[in-house]
Amino acid sequence: MTYPDLYLMIDGQRLSGGGRRTHKVVNPATGEAIADLPLADAADMDAALAAAQRGFHRWRDSTPHERAAVLQGAARLMVERQEALARIATLEQGKTLAEARIEVMMNVGLFNFYAGEVFRLYGRALVRPAGQRSTVTKEPVGPVAAFAPWNFPLGNPGRKLGAPIAAGCSVILKAAEETPASALGVLQCLLDAGLPGDVAQAVFGVPDEVSRHLLGSPIIRKMSFTGSTVVGKHLAKLAAEDCKRTTMELGGHGPVLIFADADIDKALDTVVAGKYRNAGQVCVSPTRFIVEAGVHDRFLAGFVERAQKVTVGDGAAAGSVMGPMANARRLDAMDWLIGDAVAKGARLETGGERIGNAGYFFAPTVLSATPLDAAIMNEEPFGPVALINAYADEAAMIAEANRLPYGLAAYAWTSDAARQRRVARAVEAGMVGINTAMIGGSDSPFGGVKWSGHGAEDGPEGIDACLVTKAIHEG
Ligand code: NAD
Repeated sequence: MTYPDLYLMIDGQRLSGGGRRTHKVVNPATGEAIADLPLADAADMDAALAAAQRGFHRWRDSTPHERAAVLQGAARLMVERQEALARIATLEQGKTLAEARIEVMMNVGLFNFYAGEVFRLYGRALVRPAGQRSTVTKEPVGPVAAFAPWNFPLGNPGRKLGAPIAAGCSVILKAAEETPASALGVLQCLLDAGLPGDVAQAVFGVPDEVSRHLLGSPIIRKMSFTGSTVVGKHLAKLAAEDCKRTTMELGGHGPVLIFADADIDKALDTVVAGKYRNAGQVCVSPTRFIVEAGVHDRFLAGFVERAQKVTVGDGAAAGSVMGPMANARRLDAMDWLIGDAVAKGARLETGGERIGNAGYFFAPTVLSATPLDAAIMNEEPFGPVALINAYADEAAMIAEANRLPYGLAAYAWTSDAARQRRVARAVEAGMVGINTAMIGGSDSPFGGVKWSGHGAEDGPEGIDACLVTKAIHEG
């Protein structure tokens, strides 16, 4: 397929060339460059900020019907363009076409959900004596700077754009430089559905330059970031300089508690597919398998058997179940993390190495008996690695689940109803899956606690995060 032209989308204009620096976009299945992405300079970002200011004053006064029409129209266009969008995402990010198609439909579901929610941005009237009136209203927070990473090249931009637009904000999106065409494709659906060009824009650039420039401007009133905890902490400090509102979707280290009374085969079928989805480059990926000792050996053997059957190949090829990793940095990270774990005593059960020399393919990997001081037991691996360890009982399993400062997604598999409720309450996480890996949905908040961030996307909470309250008292 042909890869589309790349540009900055500022105030409804496609900008490229003009002596701007460029960044090479690479197909991770081949390692070859497929396009040059123009990078924003300071003048581009100032133009985007000025437009965002105008766009905010326009869009804050839009009616719910106008917002709903744009969101529904964009959803319809995404359905029509599903195949083209999915192919672009696979080409620049590597994931399988099947996964990329699902990502398009996640955006469709979210935009349609938000199109309904815009009619429910209620305030309230307080009880007051006759002649007095006090109301609490919700207003859009202001222009939003939104930073989206490369792992969900369509879904992340969809979340970053959908919520501010539903709330009546303008938004400047800086999506990942690795996956720009997917982000531009999502934005284009909104613009083609009638969204004014100053309400949503897209810039790319040197990440640190862009974030310092945008967050340094008083025009931006909210920052939304998805990415690593390290970068998130840095950006949160920049946002704090100007008391900007923040939504932070950071890393995770998904604990999966497998109890002896669970349906082990069902658990295995689900969690193995979940582990190798998107080559493990998912913030809610199941990662630390905390297995009750009595079923550890059976679980481990079943996991390894299934991992070895995962077909790794170009995401665009029929039959591929797992594509390449998204960039060469991830391959290096896998090598280092697995090497460190094995050096410290972990057993490499399968995988552990790059596949071939072209592209960024890495074998589905399982480590067992990994000591807690191995880096991979403490840092988000963000790759196709499962860590399977045995624990004595429920208390030890919950302690291990809560050992890390992360708290994004946690999973538990048990048939004991009382334990299901106990564990769901005890684990420190923003999302908990009991006997399921499905922990999201357009109507459900997606977010974490502790080092995994704060605030949520999706659900009514996603729009609420772009609203401020105003109390008006009339005497
Ligand atoms: P990274 O931490 O450098 O970048 C992560 C994302 O943040 C990228 O999209 C990048 O463009 C952006 N970014 C980096 N510095 C920035 C800055 N100063 N201002 C604005 N944006 C900035 O690392 P990476 O190599 O791209 O990914 C590695 C790690 O990031 C992974 O191991 C994983 O922990 C994390 N990550 C998390 C998610 C998620 O969904 N939470 C997504 C992608 C990456």
